[in-house]
Amino acid sequence: MGGQTIYYKTEEEIDLIRESSLLVGKTLAEVARAIKPGVSTLQLDKIAEICIRDHGAEPGFLGYNGFPNSLCTSVNAQVVHGIPNDIPLQEGDIVSVDCGVKMNGYYGDSAYTFAVGEISPEVKQLLKVTKESLQLGLEQAIAGNRIGDIGFAIQEHAEKHGYGVVRELVGHGLGRSLHEAPEVPNYGKRGSGIRLREGLVLAIEPMINLGQRNVKQLKDGWTIITADKLPSAHFEHDVVVRNGKAEVLSSFAMIEEVLGV
Ligand code: MG
Ligand code: MG
Repeated sequence: MGGQTIYYKTEEEIDLIRESSLLVGKTLAEVARAIKPGVSTLQLDKIAEICIRDHGAEPGFLGYNGFPNSLCTSVNAQVVHGIPNDIPLQEGDIVSVDCGVKMNGYYGDSAYTFAVGEISPEVKQLLKVTKESLQLGLEQAIAGNRIGDIGFAIQEHAEKHGYGVVRELVGHGLGRSLHEAPEVPNYGKRGSGIRLREGLVLAIEPMINLGQRNVKQLKDGWTIITADKLPSAHFEHDVVVRNGKAEVLSSFAMIEEVLGV
């Protein structure tokens, strides 16, 4: 993560972060169009990189701390930070696709977990509840609330359904850097942590496991997987703290139009 300084954004900066965030949504929609059994995550990565560059932006993840690709693609028990490869996706898989772009000096960062063909009702429910948890977390991004209110809302909803909430990886501030202060845990106590002020831009990204919350890292130095090898879901939005009502800057609308949901 970056330094400890919290940068509150001007309206001009928020506009630029919104543009970058919406380009991520558009890119993920292009990826959504291509996802089906037989397609590899490396093919998805190429589609994303072309879409990002066609819009005059740069992939935000490519080269970040040495990351080799434009997307993080995390299949089934992989939680986050999976490296695209040439293994074909199979019917019944899920794949978390996390995408970052940098445009006009500002980042956007958003993720969506896709079903490949038909998936089991159990995993379908995991995706639904993880997305709901994200929504509940976003709704807490209101001036006067505290950072712990976000994590509390996410954790309460996920654990109510018996799922494990990953602790080791967290959301973050976003702006000129991909990862800025503060950290945004997906668990927490109501009323704890720093107070939220208008202009704070956060990436909120619950990682929710079907089984236990414990994770480990593969020897590739990137991929995080569940310790019990059960599936994990991940959804991420960028949001700006406002007075009275949070404003989500990224969008799943283009993705879900493609998916027909
Ligand atoms: Mg992300
Ligand atoms: Mg992020």
